[in-house]
Amino acid sequence: MLDEKLDDIYSEVLRRNPAEPEFHQAVREVLGSVGPVLSKSPNYASQKIIQRICEPERQIIFRVPWQDDHGDVHINRGYRVEFNSALGPYKGGLRFHPSVSLGTVKFLGFEQIFKNALTGMPIGGGKGGADFDPKGRSEDEIMRFCQSFMTELYRHLGEYTDVPAGDIGVGTREIGWMFGQYKRITNRYESGTLTGKGLAWGGALVRPEATGYGAVFFLQEMMKVQGRSVDGRTCVVSGAGNVAINAIAKLEQLGGTVVACSDSQGYVYDPDGIHLPTLREVKEVERKTLEAYAERRPNSQHHVRGNIWEVPCEIALPCATQNELNASDAARLVANGCLAVAEGANMPTTPDGIEILRQGGVLFGPGKAANAGGVATSALEMQQNAARDSWSFSKTEAKLAEIMSSIHEQCAATAEAYGRPGDYVLGANIAGFVKVAEAMCALGLI
Ligand code: NDP
Repeated sequence: MLDEKLDDIYSEVLRRNPAEPEFHQAVREVLGSVGPVLSKSPNYASQKIIQRICEPERQIIFRVPWQDDHGDVHINRGYRVEFNSALGPYKGGLRFHPSVSLGTVKFLGFEQIFKNALTGMPIGGGKGGADFDPKGRSEDEIMRFCQSFMTELYRHLGEYTDVPAGDIGVGTREIGWMFGQYKRITNRYESGTLTGKGLAWGGALVRPEATGYGAVFFLQEMMKVQGRSVDGRTCVVSGAGNVAINAIAKLEQLGGTVVACSDSQGYVYDPDGIHLPTLREVKEVERKTLEAYAERRPNSQHHVRGNIWEVPCEIALPCATQNELNASDAARLVANGCLAVAEGANMPTTPDGIEILRQGGVLFGPGKAANAGGVATSALEMQQNAARDSWSFSKTEAKLAEIMSSIHEQCAATAEAYGRPGDYVLGANIAGFVKVAEAMCALGLI
């Protein structure tokens, strides 16, 4: 239940942003946490900080025309939502997926504001993408799409303005094609304009691993509070993309056994533990479905369209997409003795799913805290670009671990201060919100 004032604000958000359910869900969750802050800081209300935070500073929607290999013309829609720049240039990834709409990009951009604040780095929040489906497209087609996308987007970017990175459907390969086109149009090698670049052309070590590793570092911190660890635990990780694969790698390094992972076609169960080289070969090199994994690992089983959350585990990491873990999945995790859930993806657990996990006593690390390692390491990449420097893997990984520990500490301390120890959702929302709100107050009515 929201209090009356927040309820009015939320109704207004619904009215002004119709048919954007994911954005509504993200706003509702933050408003559900910040009530106690407003009673402590009346100037936030008089400055209409919440209403301003819920309204993006700028929303860019553009046409992306491109030609396929047969010469047929296609038109997609591109988006960049520059949500909040109180703490720094807009920062957040680009998603290429047929489900992308303005509402999707707004939900992701909104989450990004608070996540970026939690990292302690000077970065604002933004997100972008297109309703383009890279599945089944040739490399040439995807390159042409990336070039056309950047031909419009470039005018809105810059290291002091807006700095995109990857997300679903956008990895180092796509960032390369977009960075190439940006460089060509502007005639400037502005490394700090995009992050997630390849190592040979301005990228940073650990950036590819950072989101997955960071989620596991956050998980470790939560478990440490209870005197537990990852070692010897059975784990399930949904997804088989950048975040999932690197989360699996770190869980295995720490002594966990990951028995299942998934993609958009189903999940694979491997009782011996997911074999990373096979997984990487199938998903990163060959870009096939997990069926190809099961064919190469005789003890494993592929469940077409199956629900990965039916696999019993002590640790669950949803690392695929939004709303992939619902109330009945959460109930099943609780019944199966799950101890902890850390969100590698953005908003993968539905609100009723979160409530069931909470009631079941499961540790819960929300995405805006648990998956902040990716954007934090993007900010480290920007630092290295600005200084014309490159750091070693161990130095960068240590820095990432330190940032994740600090995010955990902020969330835990804030939850404690507001009388809800262990509530990382409340802690993350309030700690992130207060940083942004303070900066917005200081910068005046803009
Ligand atoms: P990738 O494109 O690398 O991988 C996404 C994975 O999720 C793929 O295995 C894909 O299946 C699966 N997937 C995508 N959509 C669906 C769906 N609707 N149902 C089931 N499975 C699906 O993306 P990332 O790993 O980069 O991103 C995963 C999540 O993490 C997203 O929520 C993203 O916003 C979030 N995130 C990513 C960050 C990053 O640094 N990359 C940073 C912070 C958050 P398939 O292989 O069949 O396509």
